[in-house]
Amino acid sequence: MAKTSNDLMDRLVSLCKRRGFVFPSSEIYGGLGSCYDYGPLGVELKRNIKDFWWTTMTRKRDDIEGIDAAILMHPKVWEASGHVAGFTDPMVDCRTCKARFRADQLDEVRCPNKPSKSPIENNCDLTEPRMFNLMFRTFMGPVEDDSSVVYLRPETAQGIYVNFHNVLQPSRQKIPFGIAQIGKAFRNEITPGNFIFRTREFEQMEMQFFIHPSEDDKWYEYWKEQRWQYYLDLGIREEKLRFEDHGPDELAHYAKKAVDIEYEFPFGWKELEGIHNRTDYDLKAHMETSGKDMRYFDDQRKEKYLPYIIETSAGCDRTLLTVLVDAYREEEVKGEKRVVMSFSPRIAPIKVAVLPLVKKDGMPEIAREIYNDLKKNFKCFYDESGAVGRRYRRQDEAGTPFGVTVDGQTKEDETVTLRHRDSMEQDRVKIAELKNKILRELQ
Ligand code: ATP
Repeated sequence: MAKTSNDLMDRLVSLCKRRGFVFPSSEIYGGLGSCYDYGPLGVELKRNIKDFWWTTMTRKRDDIEGIDAAILMHPKVWEASGHVAGFTDPMVDCRTCKARFRADQLDEVRCPNKPSKSPIENNCDLTEPRMFNLMFRTFMGPVEDDSSVVYLRPETAQGIYVNFHNVLQPSRQKIPFGIAQIGKAFRNEITPGNFIFRTREFEQMEMQFFIHPSEDDKWYEYWKEQRWQYYLDLGIREEKLRFEDHGPDELAHYAKKAVDIEYEFPFGWKELEGIHNRTDYDLKAHMETSGKDMRYFDDQRKEKYLPYIIETSAGCDRTLLTVLVDAYREEEVKGEKRVVMSFSPRIAPIKVAVLPLVKKDGMPEIAREIYNDLKKNFKCFYDESGAVGRRYRRQDEAGTPFGVTVDGQTKEDETVTLRHRDSMEQDRVKIAELKNKILRELQ
């Protein structure tokens, strides 16, 4: 890994801590392996990403419904889905330092005793690979025995499949249609890492699209295009994205076709989202295991069949990391370093900072009034402490796209300056026109 890439991740992690985006969970106790908490800015950014996904996938469409299924599901769900038997990764242990690695990622990890080398390069004394199930197990009720085992869901998708008919009937949808869900998933990853890229607790944003089996290729291509466009609309640079097809020997047990949308992170090209043709694998498995008829009656085709499913499965935390990495810029302005998070204004945690130029001459009062008015529409931040240049820099690091400054002229003609984060250009705008101008720029 190039040194500069490591540096970039280090600088980003430190900015996330400093500005309150993300920090290690239970930090005062030394943290907990790969668990992270989202701070005031992180939680806004995450919420905006989820809202953007939800709006794109459900509100702007007539053919996708939402659902929010429970995290704990009947254990038979995970037997039917194949997770109890097969949701495993191959694991190896080092006999010398006792570290544990994923056998298929040995070239990507570092030997704890010699961080400059991978366990292979270092000739570590590794055990043969053993299969390790990634599902977290817990017990339901007061008795801890095999009959009370339940799992923390490792994916949100199964909550959609088992509810196929529950959603179909009240929504009166007809195939083709989809069901979308955002929710937590848990995987006991052997080697989590790269900040929030791979964690043991994470959120997924998944959509399952139910179709007639004869139309699977058409819908698979359609969803590839839609999901690509989604990342562009999210403001991600197109040259940092690529499709990576799964070859026949890489396909998951349920998939007929699969492609990942990958992003070029500082630590290499990595999966951001998977698009899968899952065929009728899941509905068939649940029909066999539950004994319930999962088929769909198509009144136009006069045919009863098990629909095929095209799945789009994105990680919310991983999208957030992508957005952070993609937005991070360092620039030199008048001989000084400026760090700016160039988030798309749509998802920026704070939209507008309102600043009086100085803390006197009635400026704070006017600025407060503007702030109180704008915050009805946007997430705003009021700041009167320190030199205005320093305040702008703080907002640049927070990724705030607009800065409104009240100055000496404001009292004379009821105008303020509107500063644009990326260009740093400032327009003079009438206070009465501020809200609509910002609204237009957020479209
Ligand atoms: P990988 O090969 O990286 O383990 P996967 O192919 O198992 O991932 P999927 O099961 O397709 O991943 O999950 C869909 C999406 O959920 C991924 O594209 C990713 O964005 C997210 N995701 C999966 N595992 C994790 C994790 N441990 N931490 C954060 N996000 C995850």
